[in-house]
Amino acid sequence: MKILVIEDEQDMRNGLVQSLQQEGYTVETASNFDAALDKIMVYEYDCILLDIGLPGGNGLELLAQLKREGKDGSVIIVSAKDSLEDKITGLNLGADDYLAKPFHMAELHARVRSVLRRNTLNGNSQITLNNLLIDPIDRWARVDETPMIFNRKEFDVLLYLAINKNRLVHKNALAEHVWGDRIDEANSFDFVYSQIKNLRKKLKEHGAEVEIQAVYGIGYKLTA
Ligand code: CA
Repeated sequence: MKILVIEDEQDMRNGLVQSLQQEGYTVETASNFDAALDKIMVYEYDCILLDIGLPGGNGLELLAQLKREGKDGSVIIVSAKDSLEDKITGLNLGADDYLAKPFHMAELHARVRSVLRRNTLNGNSQITLNNLLIDPIDRWARVDETPMIFNRKEFDVLLYLAINKNRLVHKNALAEHVWGDRIDEANSFDFVYSQIKNLRKKLKEHGAEVEIQAVYGIGYKLTA
């Protein structure tokens, strides 16, 4: 799952990134209005944590822009002041939740899990693909009753394909989703290829009734 943290206060931003990464999310950041706008126009995120007071503009403007573009991801407003007006405006614009600073990380994590379940996973806690069961939030998978062991990126790749099951996922989108914007384009496809190879092997070893098909030069499709 990929999260964008839009936050201008460096300590807060770093704290959020560290904490979210520990939970297993892929995290990107933007520290001002223009940088945030660039990112939300180009990339897809499962969840955006949105500060309202930003250098260069108001976070609520970004939210309005997201909705105008019909972008899918969940938005949680994380605001410095507990302003009823901002909260109402934000929720009216289509934000999924609102959290006032200061807050406990545990509460933020709970809110993030909740919007991801509701939106990205259509209200489900787990994804069932024949005999393969995946818990995207607690990050485990098992075939029948046997747990599968994945490294972090293998799990991310499997999850992204599972969420998009029976759809062709372009390898660009996959690399971008799993590795975020820090990956070198030239290397990303090699990474994707090797993770897919490991994944297929593990799924086969466990007798998972799913298949990852490669569409040469384009991408991958998980069928169940
Ligand atoms: Ca701010």
